[in-house]
This record gives sequence, structure tokens and C-alpha cells, in this order.
Amino acid sequence: MVNIILLGPPGAGKGTQAKRLVETRGMVQLSTGDMLREAKTSGTEMGRRVAEVMDRGELVTDEIVIGLIEEKLEQGAPGGFIFDGFPRTLKQADALGALLARRGQGLGAVIEMQVDDAALVARITGRFTCGACGEVYHDQTRPTKVEGTCDSCGSHDLKRRADDNADALKTRLMEYYKKTSPLIGYYYAKGNLSSVDGLAEMDSVAAAIAKILDKA
Ligand code: AMP
Repeated sequence: MVNIILLGPPGAGKGTQAKRLVETRGMVQLSTGDMLREAKTSGTEMGRRVAEVMDRGELVTDEIVIGLIEEKLEQGAPGGFIFDGFPRTLKQADALGALLARRGQGLGAVIEMQVDDAALVARITGRFTCGACGEVYHDQTRPTKVEGTCDSCGSHDLKRRADDNADALKTRLMEYYKKTSPLIGYYYAKGNLSSVDGLAEMDSVAAAIAKILDKA
């Protein structure tokens, strides 16, 4: 059982690779972005509060996301957890370390997915996903075989994220470099940082991650 973090800017491919690990290794994906998007549509007070912040591309408060993660950790994961989009600040990283330690656990690897900004803009502005099964597509690089229909489950519920536009992306990148990229140094110093080339083919990235996991 190994817990890992996928670390990288928006559009680096964290979600795509996390989904593959769920399928191939029976790990549990904890995406705070997915949890917050769920909260956004739930009509709760918390949902209303976070919706505006997310749509602008800013980070929501540490307290909210740490609370969400704490709840999920309670449920356990025999195959290990994949932290996808969490932690995003040093405070969140410290909190995660403490929460895992309290359960006698730790992190097997922190995998930084390296990509350059120009590629991110192109990746994100063409992105859409299936609302039913979560499959990720792209207008240019990975369109659906039949327009408007998900290749993997046949649903017609294809969606674009409210924050996948050029303005919000600018803010998301700035948030990443200001608040999240310091985590690269943090985990390097702790001795569990590995890096993969996030611009490689999806299968090569998956293979590089598998190699790291097998050693963890
Ligand atoms: P993501 O799906 O990971 O790109 O996250 C989408 C948005 O949700 C981010 O731009 C933030 O507004 C919010 N969010 C997700 N995870 C976190 C986190 N760990 N800390 C703060 N905000 C987050």
C-alpha cells in the first residue's frame, strides 16, 4: 500500500494519470477539485462560497480542503491514496503529513509532472470531459469519435469547466507558481520527490509513474 501525490500545474495531466492508477492498481483518487465541483452543484452554503472563488481561478481556503481530505482519509484505501490537486499550499502539505502520521501512514512518492506554460494553455482551453464517467477529451488532440457522444460510456453529457478559459487560467497559473510550486522544494527536502515529463505521450507518462511506484 502506497500513498502518492501528483503535483503539477493545471493541465499537467494529474487527473488523467490518477484515473489510470485507479484502474490499474486499485488506488483511490482524492481530487479536491472534483470534491469542490461536487459541492458547488450541491446547493449548500459551502458550495455557494467556493463557486465564485473557483470560477475566478483562485484557491479556496486551506480549512475547507483540509476538512474534505480528512473526511475521505477516514474511509481508508487498501490500495493507497492518490492525492490529485492536493496539497496546493505549504499549510495543506503540513496538514496532510500530520493526518497521515496520525494513521501510521506516510507518502511513498510525490510525483511532479513537468510541463511548460504554452502547452498548458493549449491543453486547458480545448479540454472537455464526460459528466457521466469522467473521461477527458480535447478538441484538437483527443476528440470524441462521434461528436457529442462519450467514446467510453456513450453519454451525451459532455461538459467544459467554468474555469477552463484564458482569464481564469491566468489566475490559476499564478496561484500555482506563487503557492503550490514551493511544494516541489518542500518534498525534495523531505526526500520523496520524483519528476516525470508531463508532455510525453499519455502511455509513456503512465509507464514512468509505474516505475516510480514500483520502487516506492
Ligand atoms: P482542479 O480541478 O484541481 O484544477 O481544481 C479546480 C479549482 O478548485 C482550483 O482552481 C481551486 O479553486 C480549487 N481547488 C482544488 N483543490 C484545491 C486545493 N487543494 N486548495 C485550494 N483550492 C483548491
